[in-house]
Amino acid sequence: MSVNRRSVSQSDPIEAAALPAALRIEDVFKIYKEGSVETVALRGASMEIGRGELVAMLGRSGSGKSTLLNLIAGLDSASAGRIWLAGQEMTNRDGEARSELRRRALGLVLQSGNLIPFLSAQENVELPLLLDGTDAGSARRRATELLELVGLGARTNHRPGELSGGEEQRVAIACALANHPALVLADELTGELDSTTALAILDLLETINRKQHTAFLIVTHDRDVAARARRVVRIEDGEIQDVPHER
Ligand code: ADP
Repeated sequence: MSVNRRSVSQSDPIEAAALPAALRIEDVFKIYKEGSVETVALRGASMEIGRGELVAMLGRSGSGKSTLLNLIAGLDSASAGRIWLAGQEMTNRDGEARSELRRRALGLVLQSGNLIPFLSAQENVELPLLLDGTDAGSARRRATELLELVGLGARTNHRPGELSGGEEQRVAIACALANHPALVLADELTGELDSTTALAILDLLETINRKQHTAFLIVTHDRDVAARARRVVRIEDGEIQDVPHER
C-alpha cells in the first residue's frame, strides 16, 4: 500500500489540525525472550502526538526508550498493540511496506553516526530524497533549502569529518526533514555536545517545529533538555505517562 504524500507532509497548521495524529501508540507490549527468560520491556505503552506537537520523553536507562523507538521506526515488531504514523498503521505491515512508511512519515536523528562520511553535507541531505525517487534537480534544491534552514548554507560542500559536532547534528536534522515527515524522532541528540551547542540545537528544533509544524519526539535522560519542551512524558518500566507542567 502506498502512503498518501499529502497526508504526511502537511505544513499548514489549520489543515494539519484536521489530519490524523503524527504518532499514535496503543497498548503496546514488547517481550524479549531469551531461552526461558522473558523481559517485558514495554507493558501497555500508549501515547499520542498531534500534528506539530513537540514532546520530550524522559526515561532512565532500561526504562524501554530504545525498544519503543525501534518499534516506532518499524525496526522491530511489537508483541502486542498497535502503532500508527500519520494515520498509517506501522504494526500491520512488514518488509518493504514498513520501510516505505518509515521513509515517508518519519525522520530519525540519532546521537551520532547518522551521516555518510565520504559524502558532503549537501549529498548526505540529497540521499534520502534520491532514494525516495526525487529527481536530481529537485533533490539538490530541497537539500540547499534545508541546509539554509538549519544554518549551514555556507558549509554545504564539507564532509562530516570537516564539521563540528553541532554542525554534524544540524546536517542530520536536515536529512531527517528531507521527505517532509509528520514526525521526527530525536534520540539523545544533544548527549555528546557541550551545553551551549546543545541549547542551540534545541532552539533550532523549536524553530523548525514552529515554522514547519513538524512534530518532534525528543528522547532524553536530561531534565534540562526536557524542561524546554511544551509537553513532557515519562517512560518508566515500559509505561508512558504525561508529566504535569511545572512552570
Ligand atoms: P532504554 O533504552 O531506556 O535504556 P531498553 O529499551 O534498551 O531501555 O531496554 C528495556 C528493557 O529491555 C531492559 O530491561 C533491557 O535489558 C531489555 N532489553 C532490551 N533489548 C533487549 C534484547 N534485545 N533482548 C533482551 N532484553 C532486552
